[in-house]
Amino acid sequence: MASDEPAPFPDICDFCGQRIGAQGRLDLVPDSSAVHARDPGKDGKRLIVVCSPEHLVALRDEYRRRPFVPEELWAGKISRALQGRPENLIGPDTLSAATGLSVEEIDRAVIWKMERIRRWYEQHGDGAEGDPEPG
Ligand SMILES: [Zn+2]
Repeated sequence: MASDEPAPFPDICDFCGQRIGAQGRLDLVPDSSAVHARDPGKDGKRLIVVCSPEHLVALRDEYRRRPFVPEELWAGKISRALQGRPENLIGPDTLSAATGLSVEEIDRAVIWKMERIRRWYEQHGDGAEGDPEPG
């Protein structure tokens, strides 16, 4: 029975890829690409798992240097609000209420997203296979 129980850290280090042992650490770091599946209070924070206090410091530092882009976070909130809706149909007021964003923030997020998609097609070409939303 005990052998079926998951290890305390049944994961690999987000920094070096080693298995997590007794020195394992968890933390939340700011990340504008992180949107929680259900809880908006956890948006913009990514749970990291690392193998040691040293890699916790190193990975925290990496995320600290990554730019936090509000439009990216807002686009993620919009995507979550659209999930499960038939053909993504939703009015601006409903979308605003569902995301907690202002109409201006929604506009900025949509412009940011369109720009990312435009740049993706610029790099990969129109007939390219793949996902126009890398990362
Ligand atoms: Zn590590």
